Amino acid sequence: MSLSHDLFARARVHMPGGVNSPVRAFAAVGGEPVFFERAEGAHMWSVDGKRFIDYIGSWGPMICGHAHPKIVEAVQHAAANSLSFGTPSPGEVTMAEMLCEMIPSLDQVRMVNSGTEAAMSAMRVARAATGRERFIKFEGCYHGHADSFLVKAGSGAQTLGVPTSPGVPKALAELTLNARFNDLDSVEALFKQYPDEIACVAVEPIAGNMNCILPESGFLEGLRELCDRYGSALLFDEVMTGFRVHPKGAQGLYGITPDLTCFGKVIGAGMPVGAFGGKAEYMKLVAPSGPVYQAGTLSGNPVAMAAGIANLELLGQPNFYEHLGQITASLADGLQAKADAAGIPMTTVAVGGMFGFFFSDAERVTNFDEAAACDLERFKKFFTGMLAEGIYLAPSAFEAGFVSSAHSPADVIETLAAAEKVLSEIAG
Ligand SMILES: *Cc1c(COP(=O)(O)O)cnc(C)c1O
Repeated sequence: MSLSHDLFARARVHMPGGVNSPVRAFAAVGGEPVFFERAEGAHMWSVDGKRFIDYIGSWGPMICGHAHPKIVEAVQHAAANSLSFGTPSPGEVTMAEMLCEMIPSLDQVRMVNSGTEAAMSAMRVARAATGRERFIKFEGCYHGHADSFLVKAGSGAQTLGVPTSPGVPKALAELTLNARFNDLDSVEALFKQYPDEIACVAVEPIAGNMNCILPESGFLEGLRELCDRYGSALLFDEVMTGFRVHPKGAQGLYGITPDLTCFGKVIGAGMPVGAFGGKAEYMKLVAPSGPVYQAGTLSGNPVAMAAGIANLELLGQPNFYEHLGQITASLADGLQAKADAAGIPMTTVAVGGMFGFFFSDAERVTNFDEAAACDLERFKKFFTGMLAEGIYLAPSAFEAGFVSSAHSPADVIETLAAAEKVLSEIAG
């Protein structure tokens, strides 16, 4: 059989499910995952030598394409000077300066090693700053796998959170309140129920973990207003959207100033990195300048900083976002046209270098329930068909897609030709 198959068989012996992160296992789409060993620009090569056009970009970091020479060079240079010092080093300072300059809502940042850590730590700061313990999140938004975030609403958004995963203490889950994305009334109802108890509202300003869902007009503004009215912090989780949808993140795109923001993915260029930051009044609470404990042996790692800095520098190239936005829109519009031609109901979304497509006859999809109501069976067939054609899409209907500056019009044409073929096969 194939090398991928052999590797997966071996992987399952000593790794739970054969993977180090669940969505990689293809459980939502069936079949076996493809193992990759090399990638360049918009293309990845499997261990069996098959070439794919990549639309996951390592789930976001690869906004400049794989193995960009400038990033590889920065990493090699940093690595030659030691992989880690465990002391302050210059790259951390440059990274902090760049982030605070690029994102106006940031006075200070703390580097961490993943988006999960960023969200978990930012939440701790919000709780400390407000002296409150409950917080609101939205069903279908993902903020990493820290205990507090692995909580779903019970029956209706007004009930106390129940753990989504065994191992999450009930006592902790009860502090997590779930609202509906794009539904301000569901948020206000929770504030009215717990007017003095909500530390923060945590939100993906563009939801990218239930496919790709844009905020409806007024939604983010409304969250800002409710947080101000009730003395809560507004926490934007821009681990996915940060530098992906706009040079100033989703907050720049929509003109909203959050109190705290989380980053990851793009700022590490593929190295394990996250960051959280915000207004000085919050960040001054973080140890050692304040009492909120937060630490990391490898935080601000010099190799990771070098990769991230090189990635952020590349974003400053002339017309970077115009080009990225155009190529992404041409893909989404093209998919829509192919689906229309095949008589398959589809709704597409594109924003910056991020896109989504739903097998749905709704005009647009605005929340988790609507995303879950899409034709998941058809998605599965589409995914499998596209994979066979050498197009690597996210192996789940609940993930966004990612385009890089290395994707060319020829890549889009090849992708759309494959889509036309696969859509006609799965029509009816
Ligand atoms: C990916 C992601 C995370 C988690 O980041 P990890 O680096 O996987 O821990 C958190 N929030 C959002 C919005 C994400 O997309």
